[in-house]
Amino acid sequence: MKYIEIYVKNALAKSKLENTLYALNPYIGCEHRCVYCYAPHVLHINLEEWNSVVYVKRNIPTVLNKELKKKEGLITIGTVTDAYQPAEKKYKITRRCLEVLNKHRRKISILTKSSLILRDKDIIKDMDAEIGVTLTTLDDEKRRKIEPYASSVDERLEVLREFSKTNRTYAFIGPIFPDLIMPHLRDLMQILEDIGVSYVIFDKFRMKKGMKIPESLKDNTNYWTLKREIYRIVRNFTIPFYFGW
Ligand code: SF4
Repeated sequence: MKYIEIYVKNALAKSKLENTLYALNPYIGCEHRCVYCYAPHVLHINLEEWNSVVYVKRNIPTVLNKELKKKEGLITIGTVTDAYQPAEKKYKITRRCLEVLNKHRRKISILTKSSLILRDKDIIKDMDAEIGVTLTTLDDEKRRKIEPYASSVDERLEVLREFSKTNRTYAFIGPIFPDLIMPHLRDLMQILEDIGVSYVIFDKFRMKKGMKIPESLKDNTNYWTLKREIYRIVRNFTIPFYFGW
């Protein structure tokens, strides 16, 4: 993987996501290489480049510091990249952004597939911060096939366990590939309930033009039927849950 340092003019982008005003992405590109990643298609970046180069926004903490004087509202970190991908171990750009956000006492939300976020618990624990972790299966062999360079299932659950002691947490179960998640859903919900996550979001897989996903993940899922199946399982638990479709 090649790292290229760049200098940006803007730190925060208006977000299209519900419930959040701004998106903060410290990197362009992502080393986790999830086979279902749609970010390069949304950003119109060549897939080969996406999989081989990470652009490091070297000055984003400084730019963010200036922008926060004028911009209010919830900031979500990592909407089209994982802010805790391996590059962060070396560059600590996300950590420096957190220091700035903490200085300005800003409300944030982070979604990740990496246990590297535990490194920054010393900052995050005192912030108005919500921590989300993506889970697509409980079977780590299967996880490795679709999210090869992200943290293991156990490491992700450990992230939720640790942050649930100090922050609001949620599990993002998606994109859903029924064969990977449905056999484990009851067990997973029990684990999440024991951990004490604040809520769970389910989201379906969304195919984008130009995406090439493995044959084994292609199916003709009827998402309305699937929603009913999920509902039948999760209603037996006390955790609030939401659907993205
Ligand atoms: S962690 Fe997110 S941005 Fe990174 S490859 Fe996976 S889906 Fe794409």
